[in-house]
Amino acid sequence: MRVNTDFLHLINRIEEGHLYTQQECEFLLSFPETSLEASITRGVADRLSREKFGNKGLIFGQIGVEVAPCGGRCRFCSFSDEFTTFTPHSLSDEELLQKADDFCSSGELNALALMVLHNTSFERTLSVISKVRERIPASTQIMINMGDFSLSQAEELKAAGADGSYHVWRLGEGTDTIFTKEQRFATIENIKKSGLDLYYCCEPIGPEHTPAQMAEQILKGVEYECFQHGAMRRVFVPHSSLAHLGVISELRLAQITGVVTMAAIHSPEITSIGVHEPNKLGITSGANAIYAETGSNPRDTKSETTGSHGLTIEACKQMYRECGFEL
Ligand code: SF4
Repeated sequence: MRVNTDFLHLINRIEEGHLYTQQECEFLLSFPETSLEASITRGVADRLSREKFGNKGLIFGQIGVEVAPCGGRCRFCSFSDEFTTFTPHSLSDEELLQKADDFCSSGELNALALMVLHNTSFERTLSVISKVRERIPASTQIMINMGDFSLSQAEELKAAGADGSYHVWRLGEGTDTIFTKEQRFATIENIKKSGLDLYYCCEPIGPEHTPAQMAEQILKGVEYECFQHGAMRRVFVPHSSLAHLGVISELRLAQITGVVTMAAIHSPEITSIGVHEPNKLGITSGANAIYAETGSNPRDTKSETTGSHGLTIEACKQMYRECGFEL
């Protein structure tokens, strides 16, 4: 078997508990997804993850609460007001609670993510959280996915019923978005200070992103001791100014998921590794967290993502069963 010996040496050290450096992470990401080294990365990450998390596949749900042209203008997001084709829509309380019931009544969700837009008012965000919190079982956590916020707002989110928040310093922040990395880090620090769980991810990965860019972003999530890490590829959004760059393969996403796993398992707060969107290569490469989705989705061009990009809970369960996970 012809395998790069420096690679094998590094993998052995990682298995023994070594947290890789930026340079070592870049090295792992430098192999093509079809290489033997990438297959070994995925296989070792899968074993490390199943051992760490007890071979348990976790299911999360996400409700997209609002659709509107968003002034955040992220060049990868189908809500950007520069090219969106969506007609604005905000779920009524009845629609919101019906979707929460549909996701949570079986008690199978680990956490329910509520996604609002960058320009959704803070009052509306608090109201969405508190209404859903009153409705769903206490055992189901709530995670909020929203724009940047202050420490006092983080405390208000928590008081309203949020357990965690998804927030990321994204690839291309400041060039593909209007936000600065300082803004994103400030919010992440507010999440940590308030005691909310930090959901993080290496995203949105496109073919143009270098191993150095990804390594820096992956290690930031470990440094912040995130509750959930993960990997997500950028999807093709027609009319976006990034559309011509294309997308990475599921196999490359799985390799990156494996590399994320090898660092994230060292984080003391880590409870799961996500892959977005859910796929079998990803959950056999270290991921043990996938999301069913309903409502709007910034990676979709349909206003109702279920049946398009979004999976149902049953489809997530079947994916786990096929890959040998316990539910
Ligand atoms: S990613 Fe968020 S902030 Fe950026 S355009 Fe989409 S909804 Fe707005």
